[in-house]
Amino acid sequence: MDCIFCKIANKEIPANLVYEDDQIVAFPDNDPQAPTHILIIPRQHIDTINQLDIDKSALISHMVLTATQLAKDLALADDGYRLVWNCNRQGGQAVFHIHLHLLGGRTMHWPPG
Ligand code: 5GP
Repeated sequence: MDCIFCKIANKEIPANLVYEDDQIVAFPDNDPQAPTHILIIPRQHIDTINQLDIDKSALISHMVLTATQLAKDLALADDGYRLVWNCNRQGGQAVFHIHLHLLGGRTMHWPPG
């Protein structure tokens, strides 16, 4: 499968991993939309969050808790930050391997564009 995020998870493409374990990896977005912009992805290929079901609960929980821990480690927690899941074209998804965006270091706007 020709998936850029699978290649990053498998270290076929370099990325500055800020966290990794047997389930997930996290690395900076290469087109950051905030002073801190990290992507948390599962090693397992899943196209969109539409594919999630109860069997993936632990994985998704682990992704979210890793994002919140990274936010604390990067001193974003007190000022605040945003976690984003984009789904399919109208949701703004460009890479079809699920990923959680962690954005921080600036004031976020609402509603998002
Ligand atoms: P999406 O729009 O699918 O929610 O977000 C995909 C994100 O992946 C974008 O913010 C984009 O900048 C980032 N991205 C795409 N290709 C690469 C890559 O090869 N390396 C890194 N680090 N980020 C990527």
